[in-house]
Amino acid sequence: MITQPNKAGFPVIQLRDIARTYSTGELEVRAVHGVSMDIHRGDFVAIMGASGSGKSTLMNMLGCLDRSTEGEYLLDGCGVASLNRKQLAKLRNQKLGFVFQSFNLLARTTAQENVELPMLYSLPIIPAPARRSRAVAALERVGLGQRRGHHPSQLSGGQQQRIAIARALVNRPELVLADEPTGNLDSRTSIEIMGLFQELNDSGITVVMVTHELDIAAYCKRIVVMRDGEVISDSQNETRRLAASERASLDHAERQASLH
Ligand code: ADP
Ligand code: MG
Repeated sequence: MITQPNKAGFPVIQLRDIARTYSTGELEVRAVHGVSMDIHRGDFVAIMGASGSGKSTLMNMLGCLDRSTEGEYLLDGCGVASLNRKQLAKLRNQKLGFVFQSFNLLARTTAQENVELPMLYSLPIIPAPARRSRAVAALERVGLGQRRGHHPSQLSGGQQQRIAIARALVNRPELVLADEPTGNLDSRTSIEIMGLFQELNDSGITVVMVTHELDIAAYCKRIVVMRDGEVISDSQNETRRLAASERASLDHAERQASLH
């Protein structure tokens, strides 16, 4: 049993000997096994590993979209195993924000309506005017206040991912989970998006991100590597890259080039 220390200072995520086995016919796949870790408030973790190493399986459990078959998971001090579907949905809505590789925005809906969506499922109910003003504030936070009436197809990939990040933030989550958030973006836009995640992290938001690119993990504070369902290394990133300063020097180099 994980014993719960008194409030404050306890990790957002506590995993103890987590395993997830998939049974398909006679075959059993141990997609994740023996994973134990703590993730503290304000951390920014990259989960790396080859395809099939169990990253998505682990993220699905962290996101309460799937349950472990063994072990213990406390999210913000709350044991997830004992919750029913409705309680899990509420926990997800209140404590977690999700960002995906393919943005997952509704096409026929404006940026603002996309961002309002998670609040439609919030309890207690958030009145429409409050939903609107919170969506606008979240869009401003990701630098897209001016684009709130645009549809996803009228926005670039990087802008669409910003909308998705605003949507992930709008319920003020404890934790943002992102599965390959730069997987569909070019390298310059990826730096921009990593800069936004770093900014959010600096403001206190905990971020856990799956990526198979070392270049992207380099912006995170801590790097966890998985292989065959296990964590094979977990270390602080002492040589963290800072996206904002890289952006500034890229811009500077471009200005210089355009003068010649
Ligand atoms: P990654 O995200 O690192 O590519 P996954 O977590 O998707 O890895 O997969 C880990 C292992 O579990 C793989 O061997 C995969 O084939 C298997 N797996 C994933 N999802 C399922 C499922 N729903 N049913 C059966 N096996 C699965
Ligand atoms: Mg995956």
